[in-house]
Amino acid sequence: MTYGITVNGSGHAFLREFGCPCDRCNQREHIANTSVSIVRRDSTGKKIVWHALVDVGLGVVTSLCNYFRPQDARLDWLLFTHWHPDHSLELNRICETIRRASRYRSKPFTKIPTWCRKGTAEWLKKTYSYEWYRCLDPRISDESAPPGTVLDSIPVEAPDVKITPISVSHHSADIDPANFKDRRYSSASFVVETETKKAVMLWDIDNKNEWIVDPFSDEQVRAAALLSNADYLFIDCFTWHVEDVRGCNTGHTSFSTVKRYAQALNPRETLLMHISGHEEKQGDKGWGWLDKTWEEEVKNVWQWESLPGNVRVPALGETLNL
Ligand SMILES: [Zn+2]
Ligand SMILES: [Zn+2]
Ligand SMILES: [Zn+2]
Repeated sequence: MTYGITVNGSGHAFLREFGCPCDRCNQREHIANTSVSIVRRDSTGKKIVWHALVDVGLGVVTSLCNYFRPQDARLDWLLFTHWHPDHSLELNRICETIRRASRYRSKPFTKIPTWCRKGTAEWLKKTYSYEWYRCLDPRISDESAPPGTVLDSIPVEAPDVKITPISVSHHSADIDPANFKDRRYSSASFVVETETKKAVMLWDIDNKNEWIVDPFSDEQVRAAALLSNADYLFIDCFTWHVEDVRGCNTGHTSFSTVKRYAQALNPRETLLMHISGHEEKQGDKGWGWLDKTWEEEVKNVWQWESLPGNVRVPALGETLNL
């Protein structure tokens, strides 16, 4: 049995902006919101026997159709980093797809075990009540712990893999659905460990996660240690430099902050996710860059500044061995 992580999408919230003249918005190939699949294959290495999907924004179901065989259509777990639309917009599509796949095989549909934090659960229940009650089997993390807290591992019951959520700050999602002015920590990153490898999914985070660089409490030290020395660090790289627009936090980290977090966490490979660049000024570094431009530019900086390991932008559909 082998585990792998397949990249379903690495796009930012709006993917292609109608009317934007940049190269990124005018590309024609398939793109999707940030999402990965954690899969376990049988001893032949071909058949998928377990599948956990992390986030289900726009384009994700098309990615699954593109990168997996139809006979591998199954979903054992759905994990949400948070409730934002670019991480949940295809919830209906994934539920109906899996339900219909069961029908084609004359198997009963069983509700999909779904993990998220309590704040996110409340948002999803409001926005997607049909899917929530009819199609999902929610396993909620019942807390609103501050960023830098190691939460209980997800009871996935797949052998030789452990998935541990860690709370992170992502201020545009850390909102109480009952009162938009109140802060409610709702976002998680995931640490996926097999017997030999570790992957960290650290996306949709803002630059208020200083505990990563300078952990203060015992809990933060524990959380930062768990994020450290990963084989793969998937990280939010929204812009080249800009993190605040007119005094408001964008809710994401720029490449400047990615460098600091990567320096602190010492991964073997840093994989940039949620790329946009649109908050930069038109013509400035990062604005409207294609993935290949991002990759060339960040590789140069990585080498110049002797940052740990390797950096790149993952390709859609690629699978990393876990
Ligand atoms: Zn997002
Ligand atoms: Zn654009
Ligand atoms: Zn978000």
